[in-house]
Amino acid sequence: MPIFADQHLHCSYSPDSKATMKEMAESAFSKGLKHISFTDHNDFEAPDYPEYPKGCWDLNVDSYLYEILKLREEYRDKMFVGFGIEIGLLPEAFRQNAVLAHSHEFDLVLGSVHFIDGLDIYDNKFFENRDIRSALGDYFRAIRDNIVKFNNFDVLAHMDMPTRVMPYPEDDYKPEEHKDIIDDILNYLIENEKGIELNMSSLSKGKKNPCPNAYILKRYKELGGEIVTVGSDAHRPEIVGTHFDVAADILADCGFKYYCTFENRTATFVKL
Ligand SMILES: [Zn+2]
Ligand SMILES: [Zn+2]
Repeated sequence: MPIFADQHLHCSYSPDSKATMKEMAESAFSKGLKHISFTDHNDFEAPDYPEYPKGCWDLNVDSYLYEILKLREEYRDKMFVGFGIEIGLLPEAFRQNAVLAHSHEFDLVLGSVHFIDGLDIYDNKFFENRDIRSALGDYFRAIRDNIVKFNNFDVLAHMDMPTRVMPYPEDDYKPEEHKDIIDDILNYLIENEKGIELNMSSLSKGKKNPCPNAYILKRYKELGGEIVTVGSDAHRPEIVGTHFDVAADILADCGFKYYCTFENRTATFVKL
């Protein structure tokens, strides 16, 4: 059965999307999806950029929820519309994140690293004057250091996200060079019953590999992990649910028999 749930969607409640929530839902429904989760950004203490000034990544959760509830009613009996959030992991934000995650009845909380040492991963400065191994190593260390401070999330999103935007050739990325720290992160996730996300947005950006690389997905499975969600990370309606046929093949190749949907922060296992 094809994957019918897109567990990572943005709309104009995120500063990097102009799409209305309704446009995103319409696109999902027209593509035959049965379950979607809006996971708009909340990145407390994100660095200040001219295009993204201080505070712009703080989600207005109340009006966001109000719109989700309206859509949920509209699509009742047709498609589940989940109240999710993508919480940015930053060492200086772990107290605010803890309060945020506890203060609402989310269906799905994604945990993500988008900023390191005051730099957006989308800022080329993050990659300047160093090689791919150093950049990815820093990213994995940031994940590990963050998740031990704040772990009230359900699924770790796009675990090797710099590969999506890095200036190096894609084939230069060797995840096995980071085996020890990748294992540290995956073991922590598994011990704490956290899932991992297969994020397909890099394919929409012309890359060959999803995020994370199949190496990481396979390793999560080998170490005993079972909870995997699939997300397009769409910020535009046309990207919703794209490359999910490829996602199903990748998961099967990595040994998974199920993917998960989330409601009330509880995973349901769906046969691939
Ligand atoms: Zn993200
Ligand atoms: Zn996202």
